[in-house]
Amino acid sequence: MRFTGRWERRDVDASQRTGGSTISTGCVERDGTASTSSSRRPTRRLWLTASAVLAALVLVIIVAVGAAGGRPSPAASVRAPAAGVADGSAVRAAEQAVLARRARAILRRDRQVWRADLDTADPAFLAEQDQLFRNLSQVRFASWRFELIGRDYNQPELTARYHAPYVLPAVLLHYAIKDFDPAPVARPEVLTFVRRSGRWLLGSDSDADRLLPETGHADPWDRRAMVTGRGQQVLILADATDARHLTQLVAAGDAAVDRVASMWPTGWRRRVVIVAVRDQQLLETYFRTGEQSSENVVAIAVPAFDNVQGWSARPGKRPPDPSSRVIINPRHFRPGDPDNADTLTHEITHVATLPITDVGTPTWLVEGAAVYTAYRSYGDVTGLHLGAGLREEAHSGSVSLPTYGFYQGQVGDHYDAAWLACRLIVSDVGEAGLRALYRQLGTVHKIYDAVPAEAAAFPPVVHTSQDRFEHALAPYILSRAG
Ligand SMILES: [Zn+2]
Repeated sequence: MRFTGRWERRDVDASQRTGGSTISTGCVERDGTASTSSSRRPTRRLWLTASAVLAALVLVIIVAVGAAGGRPSPAASVRAPAAGVADGSAVRAAEQAVLARRARAILRRDRQVWRADLDTADPAFLAEQDQLFRNLSQVRFASWRFELIGRDYNQPELTARYHAPYVLPAVLLHYAIKDFDPAPVARPEVLTFVRRSGRWLLGSDSDADRLLPETGHADPWDRRAMVTGRGQQVLILADATDARHLTQLVAAGDAAVDRVASMWPTGWRRRVVIVAVRDQQLLETYFRTGEQSSENVVAIAVPAFDNVQGWSARPGKRPPDPSSRVIINPRHFRPGDPDNADTLTHEITHVATLPITDVGTPTWLVEGAAVYTAYRSYGDVTGLHLGAGLREEAHSGSVSLPTYGFYQGQVGDHYDAAWLACRLIVSDVGEAGLRALYRQLGTVHKIYDAVPAEAAAFPPVVHTSQDRFEHALAPYILSRAG
């Protein structure tokens, strides 16, 4: 059997805009090739066979930028107050009151309170808000809070729509899903408040969506009808049109968590939120990069922090136990497909290792460990179709671990080298050794410390120097090639 690995990189700069103190993401993509085999031969699942869905796994480590004190400059369109509103403090107080009631309505599932602050001028908006309330009512939240961050957006063209004074304050939503989010998650929104008969009412939550950062107003409940499924270890937030797949999705999620936990038994909560909605805006937020659309993406793991770059006054320190989401694209993800099960396992590995992953953790180790975990139950590997570059490097007698620039150049080669390096480490010092190496390099806080840190970690943990390991990796890789 012939194996091919094709990898596409995720654009780092695009991801950096999501902000946060430290962000790592992983994604799997497909090339549209339909799987034609139903066998479960281990070697078939390599990244990946010609007959299987081809996938790319990407993890992007992002360093916080800005944050050097106070909030960065707002968007160019921001100005306050808007639409002839004179008394800013009174408006702020009214906004606060509406937002506090709205938060209480969500936490108490009180539809009357929810509706009481809505502008009734637009029936379509009321229908959207009804849908949003039904979606939110299916999720148990430990907390839900709106924070006015102190600036308004200016949209003069809305005058013709509202025929009344209005303001568009920027709002940071902080919420935590009960039993799943160890800490609140922050999302940026801009809400439109309209003054009718002396009262400030909520007129829209999407007037300024196009100006929001990538995570803005893109939660699974925000637009389309949603259904939820709770497993032992996963919460599925799925599109209502996929309700018939919910049981399968829950089973696939729980099974993937079990597979990951058998490799990573400690250090994570084993509670994973899996988002599987068909909201194009959400998919674009997380999947679109500078070079590719969300069309070909199957899944991605996304950390979720309680701050947003440019919106939070103090981005803060990375929490020791970050929240995260695994987002899958229902257009491509089939819960019963073994390749997709591996994909989910790979992504959930990123969730499991996130607490021990820092900016300076070598990407080859982060991705290699995820591929290793997804494939570890399949036994030995033979017949790999190696990329020409990796094959040539292996023939030269040494294969460098792709510590920097992992998502650039021959990305498929990087994944294969990373994965096989992890396999070789396991064959030398066992899975406990691979975990020990990960934990040691999970404390590297600076990206440029990655290389010296891994060189220092190899002798005590892998019982050889990195140089000797890279020389041993070359024949190991060739021995697995077809
Ligand atoms: Zn990955």
